[in-house]
Order: sequence, then C-alpha cells, then structure tokens
Amino acid sequence: MQQAQNLWNAALVKLRELVDADSFERYFAEIVPVTLDESRDTLILGVTSDLIAFWLSDNYGGVVEEALREVCDDSLEVVFESGHQLASLTTPAVRKRVEGDKDETSTATATAVAVEERPRPRVRSRESHDDHDGGDYNSNFPYRGDFSFDNFVVGNCNKICFAAAQAVSEKPGRAYNPLLIFGGVALGKTHLLQAIATNVIARKKRAKVQYVTSEEFVNQYVEALQSKKLGSFRRRFRSLDLLLIDDIQFFEGKVGSQEEFFHTFNALHNSHKQIVLASDRTPQQIAGLEQRLVSRFEWGLSAEMLPPDFETRLAILRNKQEKQQIKLSDEVMTLIANRIHSNIRNLESALTRLVMNISAFSDNMTVERAEMLLKDKFEQERKPTINIELIQRQVADHFDISRSDMMSKKRPRKIALPRMVAMYLSRKLTSDSLPAIGDAFNRNHATVIHAVDKVEQLMSADDSLRNSVSILKRDLES
Ligand code: ADP
Ligand code: MG
Repeated sequence: MQQAQNLWNAALVKLRELVDADSFERYFAEIVPVTLDESRDTLILGVTSDLIAFWLSDNYGGVVEEALREVCDDSLEVVFESGHQLASLTTPAVRKRVEGDKDETSTATATAVAVEERPRPRVRSRESHDDHDGGDYNSNFPYRGDFSFDNFVVGNCNKICFAAAQAVSEKPGRAYNPLLIFGGVALGKTHLLQAIATNVIARKKRAKVQYVTSEEFVNQYVEALQSKKLGSFRRRFRSLDLLLIDDIQFFEGKVGSQEEFFHTFNALHNSHKQIVLASDRTPQQIAGLEQRLVSRFEWGLSAEMLPPDFETRLAILRNKQEKQQIKLSDEVMTLIANRIHSNIRNLESALTRLVMNISAFSDNMTVERAEMLLKDKFEQERKPTINIELIQRQVADHFDISRSDMMSKKRPRKIALPRMVAMYLSRKLTSDSLPAIGDAFNRNHATVIHAVDKVEQLMSADDSLRNSVSILKRDLES
C-alpha cells in the first residue's frame, strides 16, 4: 500500500507536467492508489465508479503509464478499479459525481459502449475481480438490435444502398439477387446487412437466415473438411432462405473456399433464395477473386456506400444523441460533424467520449473542452488520404508534365509512361474501382488493367523506373 502511495505521488508530479492543469485537477486529484500487485508489474488505482474507471483507462491510461515509466525503471501496467470511496467524498463536487453514478441505466449504456470502443480495457470492479475483456459484448452477434433500418440515417451517400437493402428484406430472392454493398471502412455496410437479417426474421419467424463474415465461412468450411462433415456444412448453407456474407474481400486467394461458395451461391440462386454480400471494394478490385464469382456478383445489384456529407454526419450524431440522456450543445455537435468526416465509427466514438466525460465528471462541455478532449481524433482526420488527384499531381511533378496531360488523349511516351504509372499507383494505393480510375484519366477500365500489367512488366526490367515508382509511393504514403 505504502509502495503504491509513494509511486503514485511521484507519478502525480510527472502527470502535472504531462497534462493541462484543468484536466489534472478534474481527473487525477481524487484517484486513490490501492496496491502494487505481488509481481510488481501492475499498479491498481482506485476510483468510485465503473464509468470513471473506463473513461480514465480509455483516455488517460497511456499517459499514466508514461508518467510511471519515468518515475520507476520498469514499465508498469495500470488498472483502474472501481468501488472505492474517496477521501474527499465530503466535498459537494465529488458527492455529486458519486451520486450521479447511481443512475444505473445511463451508466450501463455508457459502459457498454466504452467496452466496445476499447477491446481490452484495463479496468475492473472491486466487487468482481473478473477480467473484463469486452469479448462478451459480441455474444449477441449476429443480429444486433441497434443495427436496424430505423436507426440508419439516410443521406445522399447511402440512399441507394438503403433502398436496395429494404427492397431485399421485403422481397427476399425477388428484388435484387445478389445484392452487393461495397464501400470504405465504417460507413454502415454491416449495419445494413444486419438490418436486412433482422427484418427478414421479423417478417417470417421461421426464415432460415445466416449472417457470416467471409472469414467465418472459410473457417467453418475448413473445419467441416477436417472433421469430414462437409455434407452437413453444405446442407446447412444450401438450405438457407437468406445468406449474408460480410467482408467478402477476405475470400481473396482462398481458392477452395471460393469454389465452395461458388456452388453455395448457385444452389441458393437457382432456388430464388436471397444472397447479400458486403465488401470494402468492388469484386473486380479483390485480387485473386475468381472471375466466375465476379461475374455471378454482376447478376444482381452492386451499390456503393460513400463517406457521409456534413448534413448526414450531423444527422447521425443527432440520431445517436436522441437515445442518450446527456445532451451536447449544437455548437459541440457541429464541431464534431465538421471535423470528423472519414467514417461513422469515429463520429460515434467522439460523441461517446464526450458524453462519458460529462457523465463521469459532470463537466460543462464547452467547444474548447471538446476540442481538447478530441484533439487526437481531429489530428487523425487531418492526415491526407491518398486519392487519384493527389497521385496525378505527384506523378506529373515527378515526370515534369502537366496534370492535364494525364487526362488528355496524347500518346507520346513522355506522357504515356507517367500516365500509366499514375494509373498503377491509383490501383495500388487507393480503393477506387477500375472504372473510377479509368474515369479520372478519361479512359476505360480495360486501359487501367493494361497500364497496371505494363508498369509491372517494365519495372521488372528497368531499375530507374522501379526506383521512380518506389520514391513516388514512399512520398505519397508518408
Ligand atoms: P462497415 O461495415 O461499413 O465497416 P458498420 O456497419 O460497422 O460499418 O458501421 C460503423 C458504425 O457506424 C456502426 O456503429 C453503425 O451503426 C454506424 N452507422 C453507419 N452508418 C450509419 C447510418 N447511416 N446511420 C446511423 N449509424 C450508422
Ligand atoms: Mg463491416
């Protein structure tokens, strides 16, 4: 105990240097050091509630460990343990915080969200010293109630996918078959797949519905092969009314599983059973996906999810906020919607962080405080993403031609080679589809395929070209 106290006192001195004064007073002044465990590699710090424990671990766990590293030679793990009374409990501010935690519903929801946000929170509760690893929150998966059509905010970026998903769930096997939803990370593909599944089950209780990721499909297939239960695997998948396979990009290069899926697909499609697929890129962009599968996917509808525009981002935040007791001001909501644009999971986690902060510490959430708390997330968003336009500019600069030459019909080698290199890099460094890359160069997708092959072929024989391409790649990725 005394050891823990000494260590914590020293760490507090460091923490004063590492965080601003306001945050220091709010978050660290009332932590009680509990013990340094026997193996001397974990310091247990006591706080009053689970919520505070989760919040601190999520937002300041790393900083506390850094401070501890500086005051003792070893690196220590920090565990925030809830259920401790604070020495200063008599002060009105602290009493308010502790009493606020008695609101079980809001605490439970916020905690659940926090567990999801951080897969292995270094947090435990004093009553049960079980290691919370967050994995149990997936035990209801598949079919997450919150991934419903009602909870899905529709904007220009996703309205086609939404309409197609609804149509499929109302008329499985008859609207679009297969339906393939593709687009970047955390834009709502899994949400829509889950909504289709739940809706079909709600309409017809005995419908045979299976949601799997392509990885799970592969694992189950391999398991069936090993345990000689291929027959029952096939019966199970081929007798479904609705099969949803998420993240089909992981089929890449899995020849046996693709073969199995091809036959599953045919069996279901022939008997007018619905197939829904999601992918982070178009089937053409999945290297190593068999052509016969790609062409099967083209039988139905492929719809793209785009990143949300400002209005949709704000609407999503408002929608999430409606279900929470704690409200953020319009200014703070606008700040988040303005600054976080890449994906919806980041929007949600920014909102959760602020709501938890208010809930745990009764903070007044001003725009300035929100900016401070979300600094890392905002910085992450500022990193430029590689897009075709950027590639065209860099390549044009490198070869000393103009960007408009890239899009022109001119064919001299001085221009044709950089154009092919830019197409090659667009294919390798962005998730844009072949037709989209073709469009950006005023060409068709076949020209892009040809350019990629050609550049690969030229690079294997020409050191100076290989060097140029690797410099360009390094600069773009840095
Ligand atoms: P993906 O499968 O495309 O990577 P998810 O479906 O997992 O993305 O979505 C990430 C998070 O964003 C989920 O919590 C989901 O509920 C939420 N989300 C995505 N799109 C929307 C939307 N249009 N309206 C409300 N929430 C959304
Ligand atoms: Mg997903």
